[in-house]
Amino acid sequence: MIKTCSHELAHYIQFVKWGENSCESDLVLNNGNYDRELAKEHEEFMQEIYQLIRNSGDYSKLEKRWKNI
Ligand SMILES: [Zn+2]
Repeated sequence: MIKTCSHELAHYIQFVKWGENSCESDLVLNNGNYDRELAKEHEEFMQEIYQLIRNSGDYSKLEKRWKNI
């Protein structure tokens, strides 16, 4: 759940920054939207967001609460 949220937030940040976004899923889906540089940046944003949440003092509380969603 938290990884999925990190992934989606990374898409949102890229969309605000560039007006477009891309990730490895575009490559897998072969939908014509794959952009290597955007996908690389997307991965970095996703990891940074995930680490922010993971390193939060409230992580274990969030994990328990979100596990049931
Ligand atoms: Zn994606």
